[in-house]
This record gives sequence, C-alpha cells and structure tokens, in this order.
Amino acid sequence: MLQSALKTTQNFIAGEFCSGSSQKFFDNLSPVDGSLVSRVAEASEADVDRAVRAAHKALTGTWNTISLGERCDLIRDVANEIGRRFEDFLAAEMADTGKPHSLASVIDIPRGAANFRIFSDIVRYASEHVYHQETADGLGALNYTVRKPKGVIGVISPWNLPLLLMTWKVAPALACGNTVVAKPSEETPSTTALLGEVMNTVGIPAGVFNVVHGFGPGSAGEFLTKHPLVNAITFTGETRTGEAIMKVAATGVRDISSELGGKNASLVFADCDLDKAVAGTVRSAFTNTGQVCLCTERVYVERPIFDEFVGRLKAATEKLRFGPPGEKDTDLGPLISRKHRDKVLSYYRAAVEDGATVVTGGGVPELGDTFGEGAWIQPTIWTGLREDSRVVREEIFGPCCHIQPFDTEEDAVRMANDTQYGLAAVIWTENLGRAHRLAPKMETGIVWVNTWNLRDLRTPFGGAKQSGIGREGGLHSIEFYTETTNICIKN
Ligand code: NAD
Repeated sequence: MLQSALKTTQNFIAGEFCSGSSQKFFDNLSPVDGSLVSRVAEASEADVDRAVRAAHKALTGTWNTISLGERCDLIRDVANEIGRRFEDFLAAEMADTGKPHSLASVIDIPRGAANFRIFSDIVRYASEHVYHQETADGLGALNYTVRKPKGVIGVISPWNLPLLLMTWKVAPALACGNTVVAKPSEETPSTTALLGEVMNTVGIPAGVFNVVHGFGPGSAGEFLTKHPLVNAITFTGETRTGEAIMKVAATGVRDISSELGGKNASLVFADCDLDKAVAGTVRSAFTNTGQVCLCTERVYVERPIFDEFVGRLKAATEKLRFGPPGEKDTDLGPLISRKHRDKVLSYYRAAVEDGATVVTGGGVPELGDTFGEGAWIQPTIWTGLREDSRVVREEIFGPCCHIQPFDTEEDAVRMANDTQYGLAAVIWTENLGRAHRLAPKMETGIVWVNTWNLRDLRTPFGGAKQSGIGREGGLHSIEFYTETTNICIKN
C-alpha cells in the first residue's frame, strides 16, 4: 500500500483514517528527486478538536479500564507489529526522507519498535517510593506515592528521525496510561500514519492514539498546542519553535518537555586513538547527512595532531558515497528538502565570506539528471574561522563541521562551552583521568567519551541551556508522563 507511487496520507482520528474536514491537501515530495510521495490531508482546527476530544474521551472511557499488565502487553504488541511490518515502515521512511537503507534499517525502524518494547517493560516494573515518617506521638505515619496518567498528551515531532523520535514520546506516554494526539512533521507524515494502522491491528482502543497532519503556526501544530484539553505537550524541534510552544503552554499552566537544537562540540586530544577519532567524527558530523540533533558541527583538535587529523578526516569524508536510499552501499542521502538545502547552502556561502578554508565540499554534487530536482549537498569541512563567525555559532543542521586547533584543556573546554546550546559533547582521549576530569565540565545534557550516539534507552536524554527542558528516557520519561499523588496515612 505505502510503496505505491501516489497515495493519500490521512489523519487518524478515533481509530479511523479520514481526510480533513476542509478537504485541504499538501504535497509530500521526495528529497531524492522531487517526485510526489503522497498527498497529505491537512487537519483543520475542527479536525484537531475532534482528535483531542477523542483522546480525552478514551482516557476515561476505555484506556483506564485496562489493567497495567494488559496495557503493557498491548504496548509490546505494537513493538512486535512494527517488527512484522518492518519493510512497510522502512519503505515509508526512506520515501519521505531519502535516508539510506543502511541507516533506516539499522537505526530508525528498529529503534521505533525498541521504544515500545522498552517502555512496556519499564512501566510494567516501575516501583514507587515509600517513606516511614516519625511523629510526635510515636505512632508514625506512612507516606507513599501513586502515579496517574497526566491526560491527553500533544506530541509534536521533527523530520530528521521521524519514527524514532515520534515513538520515543508516544510509547512512554501510552504505557503510562495517557492518550495521545500526535502531529508529525509536514515533511515526514508517512510512518506516523502507519502507526495508526498498527494501533488498530493490535487492538489499542479507538481514540487512545490519534494523528493530525499539517504545519506549525496557523495549522495543526498550533491548533494542537493551544487546545485546552491537551494536558501536556512534548516537543522535539528547533529552539525557536520550542520557545513559541512554551508561550502557548503557559496558558492553562500545562507541562512541557522539549528537546531542541544543538551546536555540538567534539574535543580531540593528541593522546586519542586517531583511527577511532577520525572514524567517529565522520559518523558524528555526517550521519543522516548531518541532520541529527546530536551531530558535531564544531571540532576542536589539539595542535600537535591538527594537520594530520584534518587530512585524515578529509580523506575519509571524500570516500562517502551518495546514492538513492535503496542502494545498499549508499552512505549519504539528500537533505530533507530544497528549502532546507537553501538554508544550509547560505551557511556554506557565509563560511567563505568569513574567510574559511574549504577543506572539502562546499557545494552541490554532480549526480546527473535523475536526481536533479533532489536536495543533494556535499559534506563539507572548514578550517580557519573565528569563533564568533555565524557558521561556528549557529545550528546549521547539515553535513558540515568547522575544525579549530587548541593548545590547552582549559581552552578546549572554554570554546566548546561558549555556545547558547547544550545538547551533547564528545571527547576523544585515551587518558582516563582526563576523560573523568573533563566530562562533568561540559555544559551539555550528554557527554560521550571515545564514541558517539551510543544510546541506552534507560538513561536521561535531553539538553542543557537552549537545547531543551526536562529529560526523557527510562524512569525520566515516567516522571514526565505521570502525575503523582502523595498519600500520607497516620498510624
Ligand atoms: P521545527 O521546529 O521547524 O518543527 C518541528 C515540529 O514542530 C514540526 O512538526 C512542525 O510542524 C512543528 N511546529 C513548527 N512550528 C510550530 C508551532 N508554532 N506550534 C506548534 N508546532 C509547530 O523543527 P524541524 O526543522 O522539523 O527539525 C529540526 C530541528 O529539530 C533542529 O533544530 C534539531 O536540532 C532539532 N532536533 C532536536 C532533537 C533533540 O532531541 N534535542 C532531536 C531531533 C531534532
């Protein structure tokens, strides 16, 4: 069904697929060659209202009548069903994003299923705190906490890891007993729509999970966040969008969790394993064509190995192969859209205007007529920019990085932390003492030492500074997706 060349992607409300009441559609174009992937039904304000009311009704009408054990079984069934329909999800994700098979089949779709599997287990086995309190009469009191779902959760996600990031929020929200109205990015609606089919197949009651399609301001995103029956909002996307959503969430004092932009640094010390550091930096700078919030756009290299590191990174980068998603040896797909490529290319020009040395790349690759309407771009490395250059300070979200030399640990840490963002940092060193000394000094939510993007889903994930508010992952997700009531019983 999804593999067909032309199709309509519909909203999923109260267990049924439907076009919007306004009968408005927008085009979902392939970034590989500009062809039409699907026509997407844009949800009107009335459609979003219907979806939120369906979620609100399901909260008490059906979902809360199912025991915790049965609920977690259903969440696990969702994981299994994604596994059973692996090829459908894979085809849909590759069609929307153009990302290579080697990435989507190993990261995006397996993680989509894993998110449901792990949160089924975590919520099933989560424990509560009990406090025995001493009292003046000597009899004491018992305090214990019960957790309850927060209510209707509005989930808004971006286009770079569509299924992975959507399910990262939907799975714990549902496992904790909430109901969900999800709005995927307008660029990548297909796998979230497929998730609606999966929910019906495994028997998740109608209204527990709903999908509305559309854009941000004046469209489904805004209609969802401002709906008074949405009890909490979880958002992944740009920092500016996060700020706008926070303002809307203030009305009604609604909870918000946000995972926002980054301008991540990597510190490469002369005592590193250079083979690992070069291979790791190729991954951290260019995976998903640089469109991962955790990607490294600033690399700081200790001066004695600077020239060698730059030369080896250039050579490794020039070996990356462009290609359509289905070809097994493709390393690099296109950017998500022509619009995003225009933005990234404007930074490529700004780097040159600011005096950068272009080590490799800097433009658009020659791939022939077939891909002429696509959003292809060269992976790019610069040196020689000042730290206050726009290219060094602003998130580009493309396959590019700037490499700067440093002389001391203090300089490296100072430059890495000199940013409004605080998502992730990487340290390459074989000196364990240095790793332990520096890691806590990084002003980021995550630090990797001698690796990048190695994730244990039980650990807290999120950013410091303007990279977000709150942490999700493992028990941290349960904190966000539940409300606690403390009960104190006097003996
Ligand atoms: P974006 O902020 O433009 O859009 C994200 C989502 O928000 C989309 O679904 C969009 O339709 C919706 N939206 C936009 N304006 C809205 C509004 N006013 N109200 C409600 N919804 C609105 O982000 P993007 O371009 O899709 O994604 C790229 C960004 O996401 C980058 O900044 C990247 O760093 C960030 N990101 C962060 C993480 C993380 O975990 N920290 C992960 C992935 C991506």
